[in-house]
Amino acid sequence: MNLEDFRQHAHQLVDWMADYLQNIEQLPVKSQVAPRTIYQALPAAAPEQGEDFSRIWVDLQQIIMPGITHWQHPGFFAYFPANSSPPSVLAEMLTATLGAQCMLWETSPAAAELEEKVMDWLKNALQLPESWSGVIQDTASTGTLCALLTARERFAAYQINHQGLQNAPQFCVYTSTQAHSSIDKAVKIAGLGTERLRKIAVDEAFALQPQALRQAIEVDLQAGLQPLCVVATVGTTSTTAIDPLPEIGAICQEFGLFLHVDAAYAGTVALLPEKRHLFAGIEQADSFLFNPHKWMLTNFDCTAYFVKDKSALIQTFEILPEYLKTAHDSQVNNYRDWGIQLGRRFRSLKLWFVLRSYGLEGIRQYLRQHLELASVFADKIQQAADFELMAPVSLNLVCFRWKPAFIASSTEAVNRANEQLLKALNNTGKVYLTHTKLGDA
Ligand code: PLP
Repeated sequence: MNLEDFRQHAHQLVDWMADYLQNIEQLPVKSQVAPRTIYQALPAAAPEQGEDFSRIWVDLQQIIMPGITHWQHPGFFAYFPANSSPPSVLAEMLTATLGAQCMLWETSPAAAELEEKVMDWLKNALQLPESWSGVIQDTASTGTLCALLTARERFAAYQINHQGLQNAPQFCVYTSTQAHSSIDKAVKIAGLGTERLRKIAVDEAFALQPQALRQAIEVDLQAGLQPLCVVATVGTTSTTAIDPLPEIGAICQEFGLFLHVDAAYAGTVALLPEKRHLFAGIEQADSFLFNPHKWMLTNFDCTAYFVKDKSALIQTFEILPEYLKTAHDSQVNNYRDWGIQLGRRFRSLKLWFVLRSYGLEGIRQYLRQHLELASVFADKIQQAADFELMAPVSLNLVCFRWKPAFIASSTEAVNRANEQLLKALNNTGKVYLTHTKLGDA
């Protein structure tokens, strides 16, 4: 594609993008295609000769678009959102155009320094401790893996990296029964063993019970095991429950454990003064993450990961082959050493565009509107005779179920009815909701 064609197609695509966002409500929110439809509609082999863009475009409309679930559709209520916004999309276009690989300061000084600056902006806006440092990771799953590896290496004076785990203590990690599956995955990958991942009981609001945490740590110590780390959640995936950070932090201090806080979804709400109390005690954490790609108008992928001790993070990941040494290493942040991957996208650009386009106050208004909508909906559920709330509404996630009088009151019968209702709603193409299971219900 020559640059004149690129210019013409790019204009055409931007028009299409604006129309798409304007008319998205008319599309079925959840893709209605049957499994294998898209795969079978595509040719068996890649084309030998380049094709005209107009043909690619037709196939995009005819084959690809029917298989897209529209995450930015106003009827999308499934999972946690992967939100987006026009300024963030524009930044992604620029990022793709620049094609910069931002592994070292030297490979794009602006990318490294903008990342440092926007992380500082966020740190201050969320009222995190001034001495903390921030770095952008691709996802919360990666951030949590970084935290567990840092906890492991800090405990072992950075020797497991060299010697492996064969002589290491039998580490235990603690999190609640409501924690996200990325904690299990990180425990697996870090070689800590899911057998020693302790799922701590929760209270009636689905928040971790500190007393049960303390007991589990004491039992493990008596058994000669080595408690290593607690992962607390602010805003759990099923109900947005808030684990009590002050009590958990105090237990971590007492037993010398690393504390990682996963606020993947809810972290953005710390921008609201009236919700900042949910994060009280955060200063006791060793690391904290949240996803601007979930609730801060920033395109996937973008996880803001903050650490108390950046030298522990860097010592865990640093590798210095000759070909990556540069003259400025002592003066700058080389983010390749702040996480797992070497190559890095220029993600700070979209955060910068979002923060400048909306301003913190614009983002606060957007959050408040979401909280208000959830509260209105929760009131309606409470007033409806046939529906009931299944968990406290701490933020903007409403867990409810249908329980009309004509259905037998056994849990199985109610669950079956709700499965059918969910399927029927999702088949309308107007809304997309997802389910969870809570407690024994
Ligand atoms: N932590 C929590 C509490 C989540 O709800 C999720 C995803 O919904 C994750 C972690 C994983 O997020 P990511 O897709 O960024 O890895």
